[in-house]
Amino acid sequence: DPRVHDIKTKIRVVPNFPKPGIMFQDITTLLLDPKAFKDTVDLFVERYKGKNISVVAGVEARGFIFGPPIALAIGAKFVPLRKPRKLPGEVIREEYVLEYGTDCLEMHIGAVEAGERALVVDDLIATGGTLCAAMNLLEHVGAEVVECACVIELPDLKSTAIRTIKLFSAGSAIG
Ligand code: 5GP
Repeated sequence: DPRVHDIKTKIRVVPNFPKPGIMFQDITTLLLDPKAFKDTVDLFVERYKGKNISVVAGVEARGFIFGPPIALAIGAKFVPLRKPRKLPGEVIREEYVLEYGTDCLEMHIGAVEAGERALVVDDLIATGGTLCAAMNLLEHVGAEVVECACVIELPDLKSTAIRTIKLFSAGSAIG
């Protein structure tokens, strides 16, 4: 697919951000290019349209950029999975381990019902810890996670994921 090469060229790599040794994949430069942004969304829409997915769950913060246009295009609702104490209603929470310490994702109770087919969206998978937490939240309320979708995959880091992730990434298509 010729689109994926173009998408990759629009992602800026920022060395030593947010701390020394990290090569940060910056998707804000992709958003500056309407064609590349649309191509990215379209790649996912083509994969998930007609798959009977009723909920797109986006991971804070950059899953809030790619998730909603995908949800609208496939006719699904959008549910934000947020960092602690951001959601005003009653939530369920899932903690996950980071390199140093832990973090947490929360989802509104009642946003997703048992039996719904869900897609999880984020910009990037590194260790997979974040996507695992997202999947656990959805499965906790009885939803079925059809797949996790992200733009960029850092494959060398994926091995530490503590559970299997059904993953589709635009980045893996880039190779
Ligand atoms: P993981 O939990 O898979 O180790 O890390 C993935 C999470 O960290 C995602 O929510 C992602 O947004 C964020 N993240 C980690 N490294 C990067 C990076 O280099 N670029 C971007 N855009 N996000 C990153």
